[in-house]
Order: sequence, then C-alpha cells, then structure tokens
Amino acid sequence: MSDEHKPDDTSATGARNFIEEIIDEDLKTGRFSHPIVTRFPPEPNGYLHIGHAKSICLNFGIAQKYGGRCHLRFDDTNPTKEGIEFVEAIKNDVRWLGFDWGEHEYYASDYFEQLYEWAIQLIKAGKAYVCDLSYEQMREYRGTPTTPGKNSPYRERSVEENLDLFRRMRAGEFPDGSRTLRAKIDMAHPNFNMRDPVMYRILHAKHHRTGDAWCIYPTYDFAHGQSDSIEKITHSICTLEFENHRPLYDWFLDALGIHHPRQIEFARLNLNYTVMSKRRLTELVEGNYVDGWDDPRLPTIAGLRRRGYPPEAIRHFCERIGVAKFDGVIEMALLEFCVREFLNKHAPRVMGILRPLRLVIDNYPEGQVEELEAINNPEDESMGTRLLPFSRVLYIEQTDFQIDPPPKYFRLAPGREVRLRYGYYVTCTDFVRDERTGEVTEIHCRYDPATRGGMSPDGRKVKGTIHWVSANHALPAEVRLYDYLFSKADPDDVEEGKDYKSNLNPNSLVRLTNCFVEPSLAGTPPGSRFQFERLGYFCTDPDSTPERLVFNRTVSLVDTWAKIEKKLQAGQR
Ligand code: ATP
Ligand code: MG
Repeated sequence: MSDEHKPDDTSATGARNFIEEIIDEDLKTGRFSHPIVTRFPPEPNGYLHIGHAKSICLNFGIAQKYGGRCHLRFDDTNPTKEGIEFVEAIKNDVRWLGFDWGEHEYYASDYFEQLYEWAIQLIKAGKAYVCDLSYEQMREYRGTPTTPGKNSPYRERSVEENLDLFRRMRAGEFPDGSRTLRAKIDMAHPNFNMRDPVMYRILHAKHHRTGDAWCIYPTYDFAHGQSDSIEKITHSICTLEFENHRPLYDWFLDALGIHHPRQIEFARLNLNYTVMSKRRLTELVEGNYVDGWDDPRLPTIAGLRRRGYPPEAIRHFCERIGVAKFDGVIEMALLEFCVREFLNKHAPRVMGILRPLRLVIDNYPEGQVEELEAINNPEDESMGTRLLPFSRVLYIEQTDFQIDPPPKYFRLAPGREVRLRYGYYVTCTDFVRDERTGEVTEIHCRYDPATRGGMSPDGRKVKGTIHWVSANHALPAEVRLYDYLFSKADPDDVEEGKDYKSNLNPNSLVRLTNCFVEPSLAGTPPGSRFQFERLGYFCTDPDSTPERLVFNRTVSLVDTWAKIEKKLQAGQR
C-alpha cells in the first residue's frame, strides 16, 4: 500500500478531500452559478463492481454534501457490447447501494442527434474531416511517443466534401470501418489523444435503445464531455486514465463554445486477491470460471450482495479509504473488516453446525424438550432474546471433540466437561467410532441438571463453551464457504506464458451439504444476515427453499486487517 493510499478517514474529522477543496474553491470564485451537479456514467457493458461503488459513493456523496444532484448516465455509445440486461442490473445495484438519481436518468444515446449536429458544426468550422484510412493505416500514421505522426492524405478535404461524405456515412452508404470522422487537431501533438482523434465510426449494428436509427456512432471521447455539457454537470469526476483525455475534451467544448464542466481525476480503487477490469470479469463469467455475475466470489456489487455484504459496510469502506491522486492497491482485508464491523453490531446471533457430530446426553430424559433463552445480539440489547429447543440428542461441530486433545484444547474430550452455550455443562463419557474408517460418529455425555443456562451453582469452572443444535429440531442446510478468488494477492504475478487465470484459487468455494441450523432460521428470505456463533457471518442465499436452506459465508470472525494494520504502522515508524 502506497502512502497515498493510507485510509484517510476524512469523514470522521470533517476534513475536506482534494476534490471537495476544488469544489469549495469553485463555489468561492463563483465559477458555477447553479447547484453542484455530478454524474455517475457507467457503460452498460457489464455489471458494476466495488470500484464503481467507490465512484458512486463519491459522486452521489458530493451531490448530497453540497445540496446538488447526481445524474445516472449510461454511456451507451458502443452498441455491440451493451445491452438492457446491464442497464437494469446497474440501476438495481446503484439503488441497493442506497442512492437515488430521481428523474435524472440519462443516456448518451439520447444525445446522438445533438452530437451529430455538433459534428457538422465542427466540419463547417474546418475542425473535423472525413478520413478514409483503415484502422491499421491510422495506427501507422499516428507516430510514436517520441516521433510525430503524419497527416492523413484526406486531411485537407473541403468543407463541402466533408459534409457530403459525413451525411452519406450517416445514410448508410459505406461499409463498416471504411471511413471515420476525425477532429483536425495536431498530428505532432505530444499527447496521442490530440493526434486527430476519431469522432465517429461506421458500425451497422442495432443499438439497444436507438435500434437501427444509426449506423454511425460517436466515440466515447466525442460523446462523454459533450454529454456532461448537455446535462450542465459542474464537476466531472473520473478516474486517472482520463487525465490525458482532458485536453481533448477541453478542445471539443471550446471549439463548440458550450458549457464547460470541470474535470477532476482520482485514482481507481484496486483491491488485492481479485480482478476489477470489466474485460476480465466478463471473461470469468462467460468462460464459466465462476457461476454468473452474482457469484459471491466476484467483486461485483451483485456478487457482494449475494455474499451478504451490507450496503452500509460498502459505503463505509469507500468513505474510509478516501480519494487518492495516485494508483495503489487496497487490502481486501480492510473491506472485510468494514463488513465484520457492521455485522457485529447488526447481525443476530444464531447457532449452526457445519460438520455435525451426534452428541447423546445419556442421563437426559428421553422425549423431554426444554426451551432455553438465548441472546440475539450481545452488542445490542434491543435485539432481544429467543428460545432454543434443547433435547437429549444434539449436533455439535466435529472439531469440538478430540480423542487425544493437544495442549490448550479446551473443548470436548473423553472425561472433559464443557459448557453448551445457553444450555448445560456436559461431561464426555464415551464415544463411538466407525470400525472401517476410524471416524468418530457419536459421543456420549452426562449433563448436570443444576447448570441450566450455562452457569454452575457451585462455582465450578469449565474452560470451553461450544455451540450445538437439537437434532430433532434442527433444520438441514447447505453452507457455502468462500475464500479469495485468486491465490495470489496480485493475480498478475504469473509464470511466463501464463495469464491471471492460472492464479485462480481452486479452493475458493467449498460446499458443505450436511449442515444443521437452529429452527428459528426457517423461512429466512434471501439476503438475511446472521452470525453463526463461533463460525462467522452468513447470509441466506437465493437458492434457499423452505425445504432446503442455503447459506453463504460472508466473512469469518478472524480479523486479518488488525494484523495488517499493525504491520503497516510498524513500517511507517
Ligand atoms: P471500461 O473498461 O468498460 O471503460 P470501466 O470500469 O471504466 O470499464 P465504466 O462503466 O466506464 O467502466 O465506469 C463508470 C465509472 O466508474 C467511470 O466514471 C469510471 O471512472 C468509474 N470506475 C470504474 N472503475 C473504477 C474503479 N476501480 N475505481 C473507481 N472508479 C471506477
Ligand atoms: Mg470506462
């Protein structure tokens, strides 16, 4: 983590980040007279991910802070890769994150006619021309970072000829790729983006909104700044890769003489142990490396939601990392920390058994059932209590019993006494083994009726407390345990000739199909979040049915961030 990426929690201190400082300055000097207007401009060619969440929180957050508004604009200029499925998913995700764009939903495609007219205006001003070079030729003419490019032989076409050709491009007279409209700027400009960039390309493709109305489409570079201008955006906040597009956007806006937003760049959010490029996410989904866009291992918003990440925790994470001016990589452990912190306060505690082991209490009356009171959340008394059925046969975790316990193992072992959470003290008297495999299949205990509620009247201490469910009352469940999608912090750290996919973690999903949970979880709707005591936070999956519950592990209880933070602090001293 670079210095610029230290979590800078400006929210807590009320300090301004650099973007807010710029806006404050603009307000002071009166550069913009209307309210602050920002926008979140996704291209509907994939699902949103946690990096987009960062941009969403930033743009909507600034609008909220300054009493302005934030637009949701679909930058839909590339019909071959975009679609309505993505538009709907994006809207759903932004709403789920807790933001509302009200009536301000826009599409770059709604501006196609205006953009076309502006292109005509630039042609008439001698600032744009139709070029017949192929894409390969254009690349050759473009030059290199150290050598200037060459002018296109079509650069000096007359305004009349350009107008005629451009109109015929629109009319569909020419095949894909045969001509482009280019801005006439400077083929020797040190910034590549200024070397006569393409404004329009021919593409006979159906658009998800405009249908067959167009067979020429504006490039992102020609559409983006003008879309901002049309919407009277005051602050166009984007990621660093657009910094060297800014002179081009400025050039277009100045040449057209229209409203000029201020563009501010910030560093993209990168997280370790995952990938965030849309191209890669698409590859993982389409290549079935994961199970759809909402696979809980993906950093997509849909995946995080399915995994059980609360929107509040995602928003808090985005605030906590702040905005930076230089690229860096944030620890996934910090995101998990934010999730844990939120769930600790808000998620009800329940008991679930992932790998069941039968425990029979030999001296507990057969057929008897008691209702024991359990606390729903020790962090929040207002969440109340519930009753847990207790009976003669229970399930406990296999890992809570050992025949030959190592030192410092305080759970069950032959002759050992432990506390059953909210229940009784039990002492292990015997165990049964599968003759073939040697596996322990059942343990036998005696309970002390005087220890109801987990307290001993004679002050006798036990070192271990374990969780359990009543075998007759527990509900069968499947539990999916997730780990990082990649085994390496940097998925690009690969051997020669291999790509990031060679670092996919083969153990990123473990399905446990023989689990049991307490009966209070019957019918919990997808998205319900719980702490399974001692095991972690879990969330009901959409695959869950009344007959068969399915849970995803959201995060474990182990705080890895605390360790990393300590190391970072030590490093800074
Ligand atoms: P593409 O490669 O398809 O352009 P993209 O990730 O940039 O992918 P967009 O739909 O163009 O996707 O992004 C919408 C907005 O989200 C842009 O303003 C972009 O700057 C911002 N954004 C995208 N990725 C991140 C990220 N990792 N961190 C912060 N903001 C991001
Ligand atoms: Mg982009």
